[in-house]
Amino acid sequence: MTRDVLVSDQIALLATGDELSNGDILNTNSQEIAQRLFNNGMHVGRHMVTGDRIADIRDAICYLLQSHRALIITGGLGPTSDDLTRYALADALEQELVFDIPTWDSIVQRLKNFGYASPPPNNRQQALFPSAATIIPNPNGTAAGCQVQQSEQFIFMLPGPPIECLPMVDQIVLPTLIKNHFQKILFHHKWLLFGVSEGQIAEELDLLAKPYDCMTGYRLWYPYIEFKLYSNNQMDFLSLLPQIEKTVAPYIIGDGKNSASVLLKNHLAAIDFTIAIADHATGGLLESIIKTPRTAAHLHFLNDLTQSLHSLNIAIDGLDEFWQNQNTALTSLELRFMTEQTQHHSHHDLPFRGLRVKQYAVELICRQLYTYLNLN
Ligand code: AMP
Ligand code: MG
Repeated sequence: MTRDVLVSDQIALLATGDELSNGDILNTNSQEIAQRLFNNGMHVGRHMVTGDRIADIRDAICYLLQSHRALIITGGLGPTSDDLTRYALADALEQELVFDIPTWDSIVQRLKNFGYASPPPNNRQQALFPSAATIIPNPNGTAAGCQVQQSEQFIFMLPGPPIECLPMVDQIVLPTLIKNHFQKILFHHKWLLFGVSEGQIAEELDLLAKPYDCMTGYRLWYPYIEFKLYSNNQMDFLSLLPQIEKTVAPYIIGDGKNSASVLLKNHLAAIDFTIAIADHATGGLLESIIKTPRTAAHLHFLNDLTQSLHSLNIAIDGLDEFWQNQNTALTSLELRFMTEQTQHHSHHDLPFRGLRVKQYAVELICRQLYTYLNLN
């Protein structure tokens, strides 16, 4: 399987708004929507961002429709003079804008519920849609979206606020695309790997995958590497899967889908005792990550374990090279897990890449503690 099989039927994303093009906010809509599409086996093509100008938005729509079978547009559906996406879409599709009475009625009703006797006239533009559009209701705001199907192409226009557009993606856009066979990747699996570098493992995994009709992908999410395997060939996918599982096993924590700190927090929320921890290594980062309202009752961070009356005590020391600002390739961590009857000591060498070493140390400590709690 090569990446070329994925290029047809791609889905394009267009985010509009001066706040995006000027860099005031991050375009999280495109990230969230792309993730949802990819997790459903669909392939995302180009992402674009434009400011609030009709000509720019229209040109972007025309350009993206030249090479994609679907387009999802977010932003610019509000009541103000800079909300222009509907005008640009109508222009690009060469359709009239038509006033939709049911949408207007629901805007009036919504604004009445918020205490407006009669809605501001500006809101009227929120009921205008291209003549061939099907309205997508917005349960969380006045800006309804719409869907237009034109010569085998699917175009969705959605409001900008993430709490409004993302539910519309889940409820309308994804099911429509699935129904219309946009799913290109039928089999996929991903693993979070810890304690190995991409350079060390990628070559080995790619070599394993080479004889099969499967594709591999890597993403660094420090200190983890996310490894993805995907294919449309069920037999090849199922033959390769156990070989991959065996190779990645030493770097997998728990279910292989969650980070060690997430797994540990879930575990700590359910235990019925308290763990005392003297952390002299991470400068408080461990506590700030694992102590949450759900876990706080089961964690007691203190300086001196001799004062502790708890049944499990953990001493954490190390990262000296980091704290002493030394320029070394490795730094070390010492962990001591102590109960009344047992002492368990482990030494770990960590890659020392600046500030991030603290994150690495926290995930390593979480892995050790999670594993310890599951074994004892
Ligand atoms: P709009 O309807 O385009 O005026 O957007 C209203 C608000 O939604 C903006 O001020 C942002 O806070 C948010 N928003 C719009 N587009 C995006 C996007 N692509 N990513 C994240 N937030 C967005
Ligand atoms: Mg705007």
